[in-house]
Amino acid sequence: MATHVKHLIVGAGFAGLCAAVKLQEDGETDFLVIEKGADVGGTWRDNTYPGAACDVPSQLYSFSFAPNPDWSMSFSPQPEIQAYIRRVAEESGTLDRFRFHTTLESATWEDEALRWRVEVSGPSGRTTLVSTTLVLGAGGLSEPKLPEIDGIEGFQGELFHSARWDHDVDLAGKRVAVIGTGASAIQIVPEVQKVASHLDVYQRTAPYVLPRNDRTYGRLERLALRHVPGLQKLYRTAIYWGREAYVPGFTLQPKLALPAKKMALANLAKGVADPELRERLTPDFEIGCKRILISNTYYPALDSDNVEVVTDRVAKVTGNAVVTEDGVERPIDVLIVATGFFTTELPITEHITGREGRTLADQWRESGMAAYKGTTVPGFPNLFMLVGPNTGLGHSSMVFIIESQVAYLREAVRTMGLHRYGSVEPTRAATQEWNADLQRRLRRTVWSTGGCSSWYLDDHGRNTTLWPRSTFAFRGLLSQFDVAAYDVRAARPTSRLPHAEEVTA
Ligand code: NAP
Repeated sequence: MATHVKHLIVGAGFAGLCAAVKLQEDGETDFLVIEKGADVGGTWRDNTYPGAACDVPSQLYSFSFAPNPDWSMSFSPQPEIQAYIRRVAEESGTLDRFRFHTTLESATWEDEALRWRVEVSGPSGRTTLVSTTLVLGAGGLSEPKLPEIDGIEGFQGELFHSARWDHDVDLAGKRVAVIGTGASAIQIVPEVQKVASHLDVYQRTAPYVLPRNDRTYGRLERLALRHVPGLQKLYRTAIYWGREAYVPGFTLQPKLALPAKKMALANLAKGVADPELRERLTPDFEIGCKRILISNTYYPALDSDNVEVVTDRVAKVTGNAVVTEDGVERPIDVLIVATGFFTTELPITEHITGREGRTLADQWRESGMAAYKGTTVPGFPNLFMLVGPNTGLGHSSMVFIIESQVAYLREAVRTMGLHRYGSVEPTRAATQEWNADLQRRLRRTVWSTGGCSSWYLDDHGRNTTLWPRSTFAFRGLLSQFDVAAYDVRAARPTSRLPHAEEVTA
């Protein structure tokens, strides 16, 4: 027997939790959240590697409706962020509708009944859920990407991905290799360097690394943040606008980012004494083309006696070593792959079948990921995708984007209730227009012109991940549910009606 709910939310990270809290606030209490992990938190539950912390200040990287005066530092460590998400979930009174250890196996749109039929597997086996809306909050950086390296499956030592850290492995005194030099790796490397006997860092592309202007919030400051009216909002607003000032450098005129480039190169010069190593760590593309990283400890760690930065390409992995293309074999006990995530081909889309009987993955295989307003997709009625195509940011808080999308979802749900719509689906014309505009803007951004390859771009070189405008523009564009851009159908008045009635918007 199927369980019926009005809204089915997939994922219990920032996105899924935000949707649950806000739907409940609107009296839309008939929902379930399914989560394949054991707890809320999403990426902040999964990324427990040593040194994990946010590179966006916590005053901004948090819900606007759940301010936290107790952040210990401006860039909070992962355990604090995870504890924050957990607390928001507990205090919201929504947790009774969360089903953990529950994985979406398939979601199929039933066009006559105007609903989603969702098969899930969980602690009580396989069950069926039926819902009017399907809200995907599964995240854009949740499925680890393992590198395709010859022989890696035959490695006899310990091997794990940065997002699946194996805490049972003691790195003290071991020979360790880290493959990758992205946002995760630069946090991991300084921690591993402290304990490993030797560390090889395999760098394919040198990133830009700015100083991390972190600071601890003292007791008095935290008291003030708690008790002085408006102070926390002031902090948040100042950080928001400071971050927003980066946008023109990314999207309009890369020259505006020159001061940041100088700062990054000065950070390199300060952290690395050896000129030959410095040379190899100097990026060969424009700043901003890949994510700009922040660290005060990464460069000094690379310059340590027990670390070798390897820039020759990895050719293969043997039972106990990494071998580079120049034939050099470097024996290791532990191999850590910090090689990122599936970003432009999201695995969950393989499991979602729309009105025309094909999966979201199939639809996007031809055209690349594309949605209307980053949230809804033609052919997939009543699907709301949080952190969908072209909603990512290089400069500010994804929580701001998530809240904007959830506001749009709430407006859609209100509109559906008011007009008794059974389904809403963006038109192909509106979706094409939206994406044509995005791609036109994206062509002149540093992400396209900066001379790098990055996870922002798909196999066709199209940027289907980042938002190329200000975040306030995004919020404004999603502030109302623009029903004129949608095909709508009336809710079925009785279950005896064989077909949903067509109505015009
Ligand atoms: P990433 O940025 O995609 O970096 C992956 C790294 O692995 C890159 O250096 C890449 O080299 C390298 N790599 C991939 N495949 C390889 C191969 N086969 N051989 C050799 N090197 C290979 O992944 P990430 O560091 O996990 O970060 C992903 C995103 O997560 C970030 O951009 C950020 O948005 C988010 N994140 C945020 C924080 C935070 O503090 N808020 C922390 C961690 C992550 P190339 O550069 O040459 O491709």
